[in-house]
Amino acid sequence: MNHRMSLFDMMMVKDNHIDGAGSIALAVGRARAQHPDLPIEVEVRDLDELRQALAIEPPLDRILLDNMDLDTMRKAVSITAGRVPLEASGNVTRARVKAIAETGVDFISAGALTHSVKALDLSMKIQPVDKVAETDPVTRIREVKAALGDRLVILGHHYQRDDVIAFADYRGDSLELSRRAAQTDAEFIVFCGVHFMAEVAAILAKPGQRVLIPDIEAGCFLAETASAHLVAEAWDALDTALRAEGSSADAEITPITYVNSDAELKAFCGQHNGTVCTSGNADKVLKWALGQRPRVFFFPDQHLGRNTANKLDIPPEEMLLWNLHRPPSAEAVHTAKVILWPGACNVHQRFRPEHIHAIRARYPGIRVIVHPECKAEVVNLADDAGSTAHIFKQIEAAPAGTQWAIGTEHHFVQRLQTEHPEQLILSLSDVPPFCANMSQITIDNLAEIMDALAHGELHNEVTVEPETAKWAKIALERMLSL
Ligand code: SF4
Repeated sequence: MNHRMSLFDMMMVKDNHIDGAGSIALAVGRARAQHPDLPIEVEVRDLDELRQALAIEPPLDRILLDNMDLDTMRKAVSITAGRVPLEASGNVTRARVKAIAETGVDFISAGALTHSVKALDLSMKIQPVDKVAETDPVTRIREVKAALGDRLVILGHHYQRDDVIAFADYRGDSLELSRRAAQTDAEFIVFCGVHFMAEVAAILAKPGQRVLIPDIEAGCFLAETASAHLVAEAWDALDTALRAEGSSADAEITPITYVNSDAELKAFCGQHNGTVCTSGNADKVLKWALGQRPRVFFFPDQHLGRNTANKLDIPPEEMLLWNLHRPPSAEAVHTAKVILWPGACNVHQRFRPEHIHAIRARYPGIRVIVHPECKAEVVNLADDAGSTAHIFKQIEAAPAGTQWAIGTEHHFVQRLQTEHPEQLILSLSDVPPFCANMSQITIDNLAEIMDALAHGELHNEVTVEPETAKWAKIALERMLSL
């Protein structure tokens, strides 16, 4: 797995930074002064540097053992004694990886995965025009759709490609589509979106309804930042902290999972008197949750959680960002009203305050509207923030000549540009981010599952284990009833 996606989500202090700054402590101090909220990893070349790195307070998030032999790695593991996770890197081969793992390091990274990739031999064939119609996915999808009529409904998330969304009977954001999924009587629901969305449709489906997704591997980066196992571990740690004062996590905390999460996390919320939220109703849900119990555990998106808490005037000192490596003190848990999981969407967290300053300098008077999965410093600077559906409605209702800079997924922004030529619509970022997961749904894999349906076969059916579905449904219905 990637421990970071790019240079924006974690700082890496390497040998040149250490030599340039003069010492590990100076290099880390400067890096933290620039970006106090970013996790930091430091590369060390020997055990002396390891000891220097371990002396740093607050502790580093990870230490990389660079090019060490097995014996030195074993000593490093013993010296570190679990205080900071260790990553082995350098000269990692298939033959050596088991021996490296046996030294006791926590992670192994292999540059060969990226720098030694062999070229892929690709070729392109042109299809004669008379053969195109038979194999053209658009024609095939149209035919199956017409043949199945009301037995089929296609739901399309706003972040889908244009050629895919063209087939959606309903398009919307997560909240709108989960409502549609709960209302439809169609026998087959084809969900053009990512896996957690299709799971929601499967959980809310009526008996006999079948949910399909064109690519079963279309996941969500944000959803994958929180597993049921890690959340349960955090809940146990919170419970221990609260039991010291004669209370418990179930008595004091309402868990809320953002809909962008696995079904297991929704089930967890169902079992612990919690609920689900979307970006469209997060403030309503957070208000409700704080009316039930004094604290909220919000996962997996820290930014949506923080932005929503900011909207409700909860001060920063009452928000606690969960640290997967260092559980907070009992005192920190007692002070916290909102405990935030450290997850983020890799599309929305790319928007930065500099983008807003730059676009306002170029287009004075432009309205900046962003999604609440963006960082708080971006949301606070914007003119407006809201769900994808909210952004859609604002643009639909705006008069001709209005200028917009939008901080959300690029396929959606591009579609708004096409549909509203009377307005100036720009992406907030000069390098507009698109969601690679959403883009895994293509006209070709949509056509494949439609072809299979035409032959009475169900490809890529999304199902949820019954016990998980039962509890997840309780959490979802609690949300839909608010
Ligand atoms: S835009 Fe972000 S939250 Fe939405 S599906 Fe993509 S990765 Fe997940």
